[in-house]
Amino acid sequence: MLGLRMPTRDYDAIVVGASFGGLAVARQLRGHVLLLDRNEVGSVQTSACGTPLWVCEALGVTDSVLQVHESLSIRTPGRTVRYDLSAVPFCTFDYRAFCEGLLAQCRVQFLRTSVTGFQDGAVVTGEGRFTAPVIVDCSGWRRAVTGGAEPATGRLHSFGLETHTPLQDEGLTFLLDRRLIPQGLGWIFPVGQGSLVGLGSYVGRSKLKPPLERLLRDHGLSGGSYHGTYFPNRLLRPTVGRLFAVGDAAGQCLPLTAEGIRPALYFGGECGRIVQRVLDGALSLEAGLDAYRRVVVRYRRPYRVLRLAQWLAAHTPTGWFALVTQVAATRPFLSGWWPRYGWFGRPKPTGLPAVT
Ligand SMILES: Cc1cc2nc3c(=O)[nH]c(=O)nc-3n(C[C@H](O)[C@H](O)[C@H](O)COP(=O)(O)OP(=O)(O)OC[C@H]3O[C@@H](n4cnc5c(N)ncnc54)[C@H](O)[C@@H]3O)c2cc1C
Repeated sequence: MLGLRMPTRDYDAIVVGASFGGLAVARQLRGHVLLLDRNEVGSVQTSACGTPLWVCEALGVTDSVLQVHESLSIRTPGRTVRYDLSAVPFCTFDYRAFCEGLLAQCRVQFLRTSVTGFQDGAVVTGEGRFTAPVIVDCSGWRRAVTGGAEPATGRLHSFGLETHTPLQDEGLTFLLDRRLIPQGLGWIFPVGQGSLVGLGSYVGRSKLKPPLERLLRDHGLSGGSYHGTYFPNRLLRPTVGRLFAVGDAAGQCLPLTAEGIRPALYFGGECGRIVQRVLDGALSLEAGLDAYRRVVVRYRRPYRVLRLAQWLAAHTPTGWFALVTQVAATRPFLSGWWPRYGWFGRPKPTGLPAVT
């Protein structure tokens, strides 16, 4: 039987993935833009959704905030270190409300369909083949467009699993305990009503349900539904041929802290602004790809520092690492590094805004 040829349609730009990275790109774009995701926007949460409060404020989605956190505890078997975050408070937010808020700011056509690859210059989907001069892969760690035949997992990825629990009043907490998880960390993220409790493996170990259930039992809890996935732990290529990649698709999740939302939003905003200049004819596609690569390369060193810190967290005795975190939490040190970390991606006082 002869196969039917899928239709080819043309857009100015195609953005694959409508989560943090994809929405941050799409909200910068005007023109005939197609935004693709296999799920409805905001319907499948994979993250604990913790980020600095200013991120929600800068993006105009403060309504999504569930709880504000002005301190963070790092608990190890030997000591608990408390960080004062009041200089840059964190928050946990509602994924659906956050994403729907961003989508409302976009002037693009959204289509729910699964992308199966990139062939002969076209994005191949369950609804047909779509072409555009500019294509941005924001499909997360699977890299649906830029990944090609490369294996998705392995040493490039960490893995996280979490569940919602009724736990209240524990505060924002990271748990460093080799008995719980040998090369990784646990977390308790209060979200207004209850808390998300999870475990992350820096070495991509995905069988985390048994240790997570043990952790829950220790707190007298049982889990509801679990969600989790891989996330990258090192920078990957921000462009592949004529394709842009943003967020986890470009390995932009921060090592050690596993904060991937802010980088996806920040680099997504930068990428979107560059793409719009390409669509306006102010930049050639080659110059746009080069400009975006240069934005990302500027951050190579901080990513390396965080990767080193992640390696130390995974490979040095917990007591020693806890001592380092305690020193880092004291006044002269904390005020030296915390605002620099916490303000990464914030709108600049002059010039073009960043996360916005
Ligand atoms: C358990 C866990 C907890 C985490 N907690 C935090 C946290 O509290 N704070 C933080 O900053 N980071 C956290 N992270 C990391 C953060 O979730 C990611 O770094 C972030 O989601 C990356 O955003 P993204 O837009 O690049 O990719 P994603 O959020 O993964 O979005 C990718 C999108 O692409 C779509 N997609 C994928 N494949 C296809 C396809 N083939 N066809 C069509 N659509 C496709 C998906 O449906 C999805 O909407 C956590 C990660 C995990 C696993």
